[in-house]
Amino acid sequence: MSYVFPSPSTPAIPVRGRAELFPVHRIYCVGRNYEDHAKEMGHSGREAPFFFMKPADAVLVAAEGQVVNMPYPTLTSNLHHEIELVIAIGKGGQNIAVADAAAHIFGYAVGLDMTRRDLQNDMKKLGRPWCIGKGFDHSAPIGTITVADQVPAIGQASIVLQVNGVDRQRSNIAKLIWNISETIAQLSLAWSLQPGDLLFTGTPEGVGAVVRGDLLEGGVEGLDPLRVRMT
Ligand code: MN
Repeated sequence: MSYVFPSPSTPAIPVRGRAELFPVHRIYCVGRNYEDHAKEMGHSGREAPFFFMKPADAVLVAAEGQVVNMPYPTLTSNLHHEIELVIAIGKGGQNIAVADAAAHIFGYAVGLDMTRRDLQNDMKKLGRPWCIGKGFDHSAPIGTITVADQVPAIGQASIVLQVNGVDRQRSNIAKLIWNISETIAQLSLAWSLQPGDLLFTGTPEGVGAVVRGDLLEGGVEGLDPLRVRMT
Protein backbone atom coordinates (compact mmCIF):
# COMPACT_ATOMS: atom_id res chain seq x y z
CA MET A 1 0.00 0.00 0.00
CA SER A 2 1.25 3.45 -0.79
CA TYR A 3 -0.28 6.77 0.22
CA VAL A 4 -0.32 10.22 -1.32
CA PHE A 5 1.53 11.43 1.79
CA PRO A 6 3.02 9.55 4.76
CA SER A 7 0.28 7.89 6.82
CA PRO A 8 -0.03 9.40 10.34
CA SER A 9 1.45 7.25 13.10
CA THR A 10 -0.95 5.43 15.44
CA PRO A 11 -1.32 7.11 18.83
CA ALA A 12 -0.13 4.61 21.45
CA ILE A 13 0.11 4.36 25.23
CA PRO A 14 2.71 2.55 27.39
CA VAL A 15 1.61 -0.49 29.40
CA ARG A 16 3.09 -1.11 32.84
CA GLY A 17 5.54 -4.04 32.78
CA ARG A 18 5.21 -4.58 29.02
CA ALA A 19 7.40 -3.59 26.08
CA GLU A 20 4.43 -3.39 23.69
CA LEU A 21 2.33 -0.24 23.44
CA PHE A 22 -1.50 -0.03 23.44
CA PRO A 23 -2.59 1.37 20.04
CA VAL A 24 -5.48 3.84 20.30
CA HIS A 25 -8.50 3.34 18.04
CA ARG A 26 -11.14 5.77 19.37
CA ILE A 27 -11.70 7.88 22.49
CA TYR A 28 -15.18 7.75 23.97
CA CYS A 29 -16.13 9.89 26.97
CA VAL A 30 -19.04 9.73 29.41
CA GLY A 31 -20.78 12.93 30.47
CA ARG A 32 -22.23 13.44 33.97
CA ASN A 33 -21.43 10.00 35.41
CA TYR A 34 -21.04 11.27 38.99
CA GLU A 35 -24.08 12.77 40.72
CA ASP A 36 -22.25 15.61 42.48
CA HIS A 37 -20.51 16.70 39.27
CA ALA A 38 -23.85 16.75 37.40
CA LYS A 39 -25.17 19.02 40.17
CA GLU A 40 -22.19 21.40 40.04
CA MET A 41 -22.82 21.73 36.27
CA GLY A 42 -26.40 22.84 36.99
CA HIS A 43 -28.24 19.54 36.47
CA SER A 44 -30.45 17.52 38.76
CA GLY A 45 -27.92 14.84 39.62
CA ARG A 46 -28.68 11.21 39.03
CA GLU A 47 -29.90 11.27 35.42
CA ALA A 48 -28.75 8.87 32.70
CA PRO A 49 -25.19 9.68 31.55
CA PHE A 50 -24.39 10.17 27.85
CA PHE A 51 -21.44 9.90 25.45
CA PHE A 52 -19.24 12.17 23.39
CA MET A 53 -15.89 11.62 21.65
CA LYS A 54 -12.42 13.04 21.22
CA PRO A 55 -10.13 12.29 18.27
CA ALA A 56 -7.66 9.45 18.92
CA ASP A 57 -4.68 11.74 18.35
CA ALA A 58 -5.85 14.02 21.18
CA VAL A 59 -4.00 11.70 23.59
CA LEU A 60 -1.07 13.34 25.34
CA VAL A 61 1.04 10.48 26.66
CA ALA A 62 2.85 10.80 29.97
CA ALA A 63 5.52 8.12 30.31
CA GLU A 64 5.79 6.43 33.70
CA GLY A 65 7.30 8.76 36.30
CA GLN A 66 7.48 11.69 33.86
CA VAL A 67 5.76 15.07 33.80
CA VAL A 68 4.26 15.75 30.36
CA ASN A 69 3.90 19.31 29.11
CA MET A 70 0.48 20.38 27.84
CA PRO A 71 0.41 23.56 25.75
CA TYR A 72 -2.37 25.88 26.93
CA PRO A 73 -4.89 25.64 24.07
CA THR A 74 -6.07 28.42 21.78
CA LEU A 75 -9.43 30.23 21.91
CA THR A 76 -10.09 29.71 25.64
CA SER A 77 -9.61 31.63 28.85
CA ASN A 78 -11.29 28.98 31.03
CA LEU A 79 -9.49 25.65 30.61
CA HIS A 80 -10.88 23.09 33.09
CA HIS A 81 -9.45 19.87 34.51
CA GLU A 82 -11.61 16.73 34.74
CA ILE A 83 -9.84 13.78 36.36
CA GLU A 84 -11.19 10.45 35.10
CA LEU A 85 -10.65 6.71 35.23
CA VAL A 86 -9.96 5.49 31.68
CA ILE A 87 -10.93 1.99 30.53
CA ALA A 88 -8.73 0.50 27.79
CA ILE A 89 -10.72 -1.96 25.66
CA GLY A 90 -8.85 -5.11 24.59
CA LYS A 91 -11.64 -7.11 22.96
CA GLY A 92 -14.31 -5.64 20.71
CA GLY A 93 -18.01 -6.32 20.58
CA GLN A 94 -21.51 -4.91 20.33
CA ASN A 95 -24.55 -5.32 22.55
CA ILE A 96 -22.26 -6.51 25.33
CA ALA A 97 -24.08 -7.77 28.42
CA VAL A 98 -23.18 -6.19 31.75
CA ALA A 99 -22.12 -9.63 33.03
CA ASP A 100 -19.72 -10.07 30.08
CA ALA A 101 -18.24 -6.55 30.07
CA ALA A 102 -15.20 -7.30 32.23
CA ALA A 103 -13.87 -9.74 29.62
CA HIS A 104 -13.57 -6.83 27.14
CA ILE A 105 -11.27 -4.76 29.36
CA PHE A 106 -7.52 -4.77 28.70
CA GLY A 107 -6.64 -2.37 31.49
CA TYR A 108 -7.03 1.02 33.13
CA ALA A 109 -5.25 4.36 33.20
CA VAL A 110 -5.57 7.79 34.78
CA GLY A 111 -6.75 10.42 32.31
CA LEU A 112 -7.70 14.07 32.14
CA ASP A 113 -10.67 15.19 30.03
CA MET A 114 -9.35 18.72 29.52
CA THR A 115 -12.18 21.06 28.60
CA ARG A 116 -12.40 24.55 27.10
CA ARG A 117 -15.33 25.28 29.42
CA ASP A 118 -16.14 28.71 28.00
CA LEU A 119 -16.47 27.27 24.49
CA GLN A 120 -18.41 24.22 25.73
CA ASN A 121 -20.87 26.52 27.54
CA ASP A 122 -21.26 28.68 24.42
CA MET A 123 -22.06 25.57 22.35
CA LYS A 124 -24.55 24.30 24.98
CA LYS A 125 -26.42 27.63 24.84
CA LEU A 126 -26.57 27.48 21.04
CA GLY A 127 -27.51 23.78 20.96
CA ARG A 128 -24.37 23.06 18.90
CA PRO A 129 -21.88 20.15 19.18
CA TRP A 130 -19.27 20.20 21.94
CA CYS A 131 -16.28 19.28 19.72
CA ILE A 132 -14.57 22.66 20.03
CA GLY A 133 -14.85 22.51 23.82
CA LYS A 134 -13.82 18.88 24.25
CA GLY A 135 -12.01 17.47 21.23
CA PHE A 136 -9.09 19.84 20.72
CA ASP A 137 -5.39 18.98 20.29
CA HIS A 138 -3.77 17.43 23.43
CA SER A 139 -7.14 17.42 25.23
CA ALA A 140 -6.70 13.85 26.54
CA PRO A 141 -3.59 13.54 28.75
CA ILE A 142 -3.24 9.92 29.87
CA GLY A 143 -0.84 7.90 32.01
CA THR A 144 0.53 4.37 31.70
CA ILE A 145 -2.05 1.58 31.34
CA THR A 146 -2.17 -1.09 34.05
CA VAL A 147 -3.46 -4.52 32.99
CA ALA A 148 -6.89 -5.19 34.51
CA ASP A 149 -6.02 -8.26 36.57
CA GLN A 150 -3.42 -6.21 38.47
CA VAL A 151 -6.14 -3.89 39.86
CA PRO A 152 -9.01 -6.16 40.98
CA ALA A 153 -10.39 -3.49 43.38
CA ILE A 154 -10.68 -0.72 40.76
CA GLY A 155 -14.43 -0.45 41.36
CA GLN A 156 -13.78 0.88 44.88
CA ALA A 157 -10.61 2.89 44.15
CA SER A 158 -10.15 6.46 45.27
CA ILE A 159 -9.72 9.09 42.53
CA VAL A 160 -7.98 12.42 43.12
CA LEU A 161 -6.63 15.47 41.35
CA GLN A 162 -4.26 17.95 42.92
CA VAL A 163 -3.20 21.25 41.33
CA ASN A 164 0.10 22.60 42.67
CA GLY A 165 -0.16 20.13 45.57
CA VAL A 166 -3.67 21.17 46.66
CA ASP A 167 -6.72 18.89 46.38
CA ARG A 168 -9.21 19.95 43.69
CA GLN A 169 -11.12 16.70 43.11
CA ARG A 170 -11.40 13.70 45.45
CA SER A 171 -13.95 10.92 45.15
CA ASN A 172 -14.29 7.18 44.61
CA ILE A 173 -14.96 5.03 41.54
CA ALA A 174 -17.80 3.42 43.54
CA LYS A 175 -19.74 6.69 43.02
CA LEU A 176 -20.06 6.24 39.24
CA ILE A 177 -23.74 6.39 38.19
CA TRP A 178 -23.06 3.81 35.47
CA ASN A 179 -20.34 1.54 36.89
CA ILE A 180 -17.52 0.22 34.71
CA SER A 181 -19.44 -2.78 33.32
CA GLU A 182 -22.65 -0.80 32.81
CA THR A 183 -20.77 1.92 30.92
CA ILE A 184 -19.24 -0.63 28.53
CA ALA A 185 -22.62 -2.29 28.01
CA GLN A 186 -24.34 1.06 27.28
CA LEU A 187 -21.56 2.21 24.93
CA SER A 188 -21.70 -1.07 22.98
CA LEU A 189 -25.38 -0.47 22.20
CA ALA A 190 -24.43 2.64 20.23
CA TRP A 191 -21.07 1.70 18.65
CA SER A 192 -19.18 -1.52 17.85
CA LEU A 193 -16.33 -1.50 20.31
CA GLN A 194 -12.86 -2.29 18.93
CA PRO A 195 -9.60 -3.28 20.59
CA GLY A 196 -7.77 0.01 21.20
CA ASP A 197 -10.83 2.00 22.21
CA LEU A 198 -10.42 4.21 25.28
CA LEU A 199 -13.34 5.09 27.49
CA PHE A 200 -13.09 8.14 29.78
CA THR A 201 -15.65 7.25 32.44
CA GLY A 202 -16.58 10.75 33.69
CA THR A 203 -15.34 13.13 36.34
CA PRO A 204 -16.33 13.66 39.97
CA GLU A 205 -17.14 17.07 41.45
CA GLY A 206 -14.54 19.79 41.89
CA VAL A 207 -13.75 20.72 38.28
CA GLY A 208 -12.06 24.08 37.85
CA ALA A 209 -9.66 26.20 35.84
CA VAL A 210 -5.92 25.85 35.39
CA VAL A 211 -3.40 28.37 34.06
CA ARG A 212 0.07 28.24 32.50
CA GLY A 213 2.65 26.93 34.98
CA ASP A 214 0.20 24.80 36.98
CA LEU A 215 1.20 21.22 37.85
CA LEU A 216 -1.70 18.75 37.67
CA GLU A 217 -1.23 15.44 39.53
CA GLY A 218 -3.97 12.88 38.99
CA GLY A 219 -4.31 9.52 40.67
CA VAL A 220 -6.53 6.48 40.88
CA GLU A 221 -5.66 4.00 43.63
CA GLY A 222 -3.64 1.11 42.13
CA LEU A 223 -2.73 2.92 38.87
CA ASP A 224 0.31 4.91 37.82
CA PRO A 225 -0.22 8.61 38.57
CA LEU A 226 -0.55 11.19 35.77
CA ARG A 227 1.47 14.42 35.98
CA VAL A 228 0.87 17.30 33.57
CA ARG A 229 2.50 20.75 33.48
CA MET A 230 0.58 23.52 31.73
CA THR A 231 2.93 25.46 29.45
MN1 MN B 1 -15.40 14.43 31.40
